[in-house]
Amino acid sequence: TVKAAQTARLDRARLALPLQNILAIAAQQAEQRGWHLYLVGGGVRDLLLADPDQPVTLNDLDLVVDGFHQSADVGAGVELARSLQALYPHARLDIHGKFQTAALLWHNDPDLDSLWIDIATARTEFYPYPAANPEVEASSIRQDLYRRDFTINALALRLTQPRANELLDFFGGLLDLRSKQICVLHSNSFIEDPTRIFRAVRFAVRLGFEIEPQTADFIRYAVSTTCRARDACLGESGRVVAPALQTRLKAELKYILQAPDWKPALKQLSDLGALSCLHPTLALDAELWQQLRLVDRWLRRFDPQQMFPHWQLLLDVLLARLAPLERGFVAQTLQLPKDSITRLTTLSQVQEQLTEALPKAPRPSQVVQLLKPYDVPMLMLVAVRSSERSHRQQIWKYLTRWSQIKAPLDGHDLKRLGYKQGRQFKQILERLLAATLDGEFGDGEFGERGGSDAASRARAERYLAEHYPLK
Ligand code: ATP
Repeated sequence: TVKAAQTARLDRARLALPLQNILAIAAQQAEQRGWHLYLVGGGVRDLLLADPDQPVTLNDLDLVVDGFHQSADVGAGVELARSLQALYPHARLDIHGKFQTAALLWHNDPDLDSLWIDIATARTEFYPYPAANPEVEASSIRQDLYRRDFTINALALRLTQPRANELLDFFGGLLDLRSKQICVLHSNSFIEDPTRIFRAVRFAVRLGFEIEPQTADFIRYAVSTTCRARDACLGESGRVVAPALQTRLKAELKYILQAPDWKPALKQLSDLGALSCLHPTLALDAELWQQLRLVDRWLRRFDPQQMFPHWQLLLDVLLARLAPLERGFVAQTLQLPKDSITRLTTLSQVQEQLTEALPKAPRPSQVVQLLKPYDVPMLMLVAVRSSERSHRQQIWKYLTRWSQIKAPLDGHDLKRLGYKQGRQFKQILERLLAATLDGEFGDGEFGERGGSDAASRARAERYLAEHYPLK
């Protein structure tokens, strides 16, 4: 079914002008070679969903060329990308030869900002076994669209003549966009590629759509047959699982956990049973929710600038819910960053040590001594998982105050006062810091003040004279 050309014509004209220009030039290049060119996927979807009164800016465009190149080694997409790059020398060209796809990237371009255009050759995929890497062959646009995840992502806007600006809707995507449904193209879709389960939830939450009931059933079926058995998502030990699949799964998790609406997304994944794709025992119970909410709050308090990736720590909290021996394994299989793998592998040991030692550390200086070997993410992980309120408070105080406190006197002061550099020097400085932390130089408030004010410095000097008299 080829639908309403007039809707589509309207849509394309709504694109921001620099984008319209690029697409017009790309279409011209394709036409000169006798090829068809289409805008496909999320770009068409977002164009149709956008506010009709505003120009639409898309940062990420997917184009598909339907055409044959005389050389068997070069896809039409690659050639089109090369011809565009010749016209836009500021763009970087990346070619992924095997699948005949190319990407053009503009970085900090005054007109195009950070635009990314993927250009693929129309192709179909078949899966030699579920969830494996697709093998690709050139084919028509319909087949290309058929391999996509959801009907709303399987629309194409023809850019070339004849019938330029026509919207191609083979699978009812337009209707689903209007009725706000995430609907899969065929029943086997989630078994072929379980990352689509995460994508379904991601789009549903982001767009405020519903996962169409039969599609939700397909998800539950895929979860019960493949994910729970863990041979599609993460692989049982001994089975080789396509690394590309894990990379994509991690990417989807990252998208979900990075988004402001990660909570409803996680809830929906859990309702669909999809967390068992990460591990068969993973479930979102009240305690885990509490931990996730807490780490989210702590992250916003300690790291508003996002110095370390918040999504990663949320995922750490999720995976920390697994049995200690499973955590590192799942983190490795998901190819998480090295620091996450280390954190999850060493967590139980650290947690055990701190659970035992923190109750024996009533003084701030003792807490600092205990906690300073660990970085902020590790301490947050331990804190949110701790069932002891007092431990959380100790870690909180360490992170908010005690870790930043400095002694009123430093090495220069010691030298000025006549102390000689040597072993004792370091010991004195440590003692000064401990006394500062424990409030011995301030106004007596326990561990609240360090302070380089004159009164604190004078008290610290008196303390030195008393405890470390100069010979
Ligand atoms: P976003 O706005 O989040 O980038 P998008 O739809 O552009 O959404 P991409 O991940 O960039 O999402 O993918 C581009 C297109 O590629 C999708 O619209 C979809 O048609 C197709 N696609 C991506 N991942 C899959 C998948 N796992 N299975 C099938 N099709 C996919």
